[in-house]
Amino acid sequence: KSILLRRFVSRLLCAEENAPCDRCHQCELLRAGTHPDFKHLIPEDSKQILIDQVRKMVEWAAQTAQQGGRKVCVIQPAHFMNVQAANALLKCLEEPSEAMTIILVSEEVNRLLPTIRSRCQQFTCHTPDREQAIAWLEQNHESKLDAALLLDIAADMPLRAMEVIDDDYLELRRRIADGLVDILRQKGSPIELAGLLSGEPPGLVLDIIYQIIADTISRSSTGVEWRNSDLSAQLEKLAVIDLQTRFEFLDRLSRTKDVLGGTANANPQMLLEWLLTG
Ligand SMILES: [Zn+2]
Repeated sequence: KSILLRRFVSRLLCAEENAPCDRCHQCELLRAGTHPDFKHLIPEDSKQILIDQVRKMVEWAAQTAQQGGRKVCVIQPAHFMNVQAANALLKCLEEPSEAMTIILVSEEVNRLLPTIRSRCQQFTCHTPDREQAIAWLEQNHESKLDAALLLDIAADMPLRAMEVIDDDYLELRRRIADGLVDILRQKGSPIELAGLLSGEPPGLVLDIIYQIIADTISRSSTGVEWRNSDLSAQLEKLAVIDLQTRFEFLDRLSRTKDVLGGTANANPQMLLEWLLTG
């Protein structure tokens, strides 16, 4: 869903005919998180989106777009707006402007004020069924891998398979699986592996480790087929680790991901070492 949202926003802001082109200045600014005509309202400290945030957004909305195009604001999750915030937004929705698009994202639409809902167009986001997703990937994804396997690797998210999974990703994934097996067989140390992976995007690395360990847990506890069937040799070896230990490792991993998401300055290599040295 977040990928769909990102593509939708870039489509609105992209300057090219074939939007989103992913190459023009607008698309670059957006990717870098510095587009002056895009705002993303999310809950600050509290679990609410507050009136001050909405007021600032409304002031921002009243100014002319700096890039001369459209302005886009995403409010997410929209049902986290408290009543005052929602009322402040309502005034803005009552005077819609051609040059401004406000996107409210919510998993609980019923918790939005009816007055807000009635002023929005609603799109419901369904997950496509497996057959549709596989057929779509077969047509669109340029990979040697089987489309069904791609979908499994992307945790059933076809757009994610499309955007994230390429040959580099698959190679990184294989290196990580091999590295974990080496640690288990005491042929390599966690610190070595963390060092080898230090040049890679840490969020991606943690995500791959997560997918791998989670796959061994599902297999050990419910006997389902491997999701990452192309790595089954490595996964079989990792699955001999005590189940409880693997659960604890995943716990640790999600805490590490939180730290990484929360601070821009977290040292990814130190985090990886902390994670892998147990
Ligand atoms: Zn573009």
